[in-house]
Amino acid sequence: MKKNIMLTLLAVYVILICVGCESGNLFVSDERYSNEEVDANMDIDIFEESGEKEFASGDVFFSGEEMATDNENLISGDEANVINEETNTEEYVYNESGKIIIVMFHKFAQVENDEWTRSYDNFYNDLKYLYEHNYRVISLNDYLDNNIKVPVGCTPIIFTFDDGTKGQFNLIKNEQGELVANPMSAVGIMEKFYAEHPDFGLNGTFFINTTSFFPGEGTDEEKLNYLIERGFEIGNHTSTHINFSKASIETIKKEVGSVANLVKKLTNGYEITSLALPYGVSSKEYKSYIASGEYEGEKYENKALLLVGAEPAPSPTSEKLNLLSLPRVRARGGEKEVAYDLYYWLEIMEKNPNLKYERKS
Ligand SMILES: [Zn+2]
Repeated sequence: MKKNIMLTLLAVYVILICVGCESGNLFVSDERYSNEEVDANMDIDIFEESGEKEFASGDVFFSGEEMATDNENLISGDEANVINEETNTEEYVYNESGKIIIVMFHKFAQVENDEWTRSYDNFYNDLKYLYEHNYRVISLNDYLDNNIKVPVGCTPIIFTFDDGTKGQFNLIKNEQGELVANPMSAVGIMEKFYAEHPDFGLNGTFFINTTSFFPGEGTDEEKLNYLIERGFEIGNHTSTHINFSKASIETIKKEVGSVANLVKKLTNGYEITSLALPYGVSSKEYKSYIASGEYEGEKYENKALLLVGAEPAPSPTSEKLNLLSLPRVRARGGEKEVAYDLYYWLEIMEKNPNLKYERKS
């Protein structure tokens, strides 16, 4: 197994060299879409990062398990049975040296005005592409718990959404006056796609701040519970989208703890287990306080800290796995070319299937 992992890593290295890694711009910030911030972080090199630098990258994973439970109401009885059969066996064999893509999304709109925005139509097409290429969406927590369950021949993929934007999710009232996800939102589109393709899964982690999230109808409580009841996960993105690089211990505790406490209070005790680092920036000295601590009498614990760029994440069984620097891959948006984005990696995976974490039998 060790030899396989080494060979795979060597192969990845060679491929990166071949595709022109000299540009080195693997890691970008999610500086709330500011170009200055993106440029400021452009010279961080992927190989430095995979050594010891703690910048960039961030991962989130979902499991398909919720789809057979919380989301049963969205699919027919027969389809639900098929999914249950798929997920009940423990005899799964995976290419455990393979990598898993954690996709990072920010904004959604009708039109892709910038590189941080995915149009609703293109997001639907992304789901279709992934489904047709045998990807299945799992939860970040199932990745973190190494509890991955996808059909034979399929590869898990994880969706993450930063900043709580309206295009990701907002509630509207339907004709009966019930609160439902706006069909013109990422959640609405994922629900539609899941109804059409229940075996794709319905998962995603939403990294929120306390300032404002998912503007629209409904209370904050209703918004969070809507997501949780359908199997989505809530993650921590700090109270005010802080840059951790110069933050004190007290500031870190407040920024992290207040999100954890708010979500717990609004959702009958939901425990956040991961944090997406704003701008992909961690604290050199006090990282342990981002991972776990206590604020206003309540403990918080983040099993994973997610970065902003720029490569697929290791297998959950990999010796290379560093949960406090989990890499993510940016979704594509707009006309501007973004290095090492989702389709860049999907193409590499297609050409080199052994790079993929995949269920073999
Ligand atoms: Zn952010």
